[in-house]
Amino acid sequence: MSPSLRTPDVLISEVGPRDGLQSVKATMCTAHKCNWISALHAAGLREIEVASFVPARLLPQMVDAAQVVQHALTLPGLTVMALVPNLRGAEAAIAAGVHKISIPVSASAAHSVANVRKTHEEMLAEVRNILALRQERAPQMGVEVGLSTAFGCTLQGAVAEDEVIRLAEAVVAAGVDDCGLSDTTGMANPAQVRRLFKRLFAAIGHHAGAAHLHNTRGLGLANCLAAWDVGVRTFDASLGGLGGCPYAPGASGNVVTEDLVFMFEAMGLCTGIDLDALFAARAPLQAGLPGEPVYGMTPLAGLPLGFVQGALRG
Ligand code: ZN
Repeated sequence: MSPSLRTPDVLISEVGPRDGLQSVKATMCTAHKCNWISALHAAGLREIEVASFVPARLLPQMVDAAQVVQHALTLPGLTVMALVPNLRGAEAAIAAGVHKISIPVSASAAHSVANVRKTHEEMLAEVRNILALRQERAPQMGVEVGLSTAFGCTLQGAVAEDEVIRLAEAVVAAGVDDCGLSDTTGMANPAQVRRLFKRLFAAIGHHAGAAHLHNTRGLGLANCLAAWDVGVRTFDASLGGLGGCPYAPGASGNVVTEDLVFMFEAMGLCTGIDLDALFAARAPLQAGLPGEPVYGMTPLAGLPLGFVQGALRG
């Protein structure tokens, strides 16, 4: 029986081909990216952020974004996502035919200027422009905002929770479908995650989106569990823990997809993802980025004796 027969309890959104690849120095070639994405899909991942639409001079790793999207669109049942920082990126993503875009809005004013060279108000105006473009050209496309540096910023330090919630309310009022919280810099702790996601649900209800948590200080899984406990059901993660932010010095390491899937499956929850096939998806990643370190405890330790995935139990 395939693990995908039961409706998943939790959506794992793979961001390695975007968040992971844009933070490593080496560039993975298009064919390797496509192989890797196919392997992720074969393992059961049903949402993958496959690229970001940014100027090639800023992120040469993403120069083939449209080609990668074109390949991902051939994979059945896959929601193909891309990150877009501005209107121009949104135009390119719509032209490429993505199902959903994710717009990073920095909760930290300092990170906003460093990352997208815009103040909060300028960025909110850009979000409104992108929503108007969707209305005109791609009304079926999903639009998500990820509030980056929501739990702290390497440039500014603490980020006021009131400011995070104000921005979440503003983007939902503007018309985005959902708004998640990102620990871009790996500064979050579980108590903070619980508190801020609770406030997010209270403020924007069902528009509350994904938890995007990094493992920079080893708290990635603990933070995911805290988010799960207060009702979050979509989690970004990166195969092999690739990831970081080129404009947040010292930030590295998304939550490792393999470990996150193992945690949920071991709890008896269904992710729809086959762990053995997920481990196998590390091979095309490593083939495309020779010498790049990959992380994750579960792939090294292997599955425990007698372990049965959640879908087979329930
Ligand atoms: Zn990230």
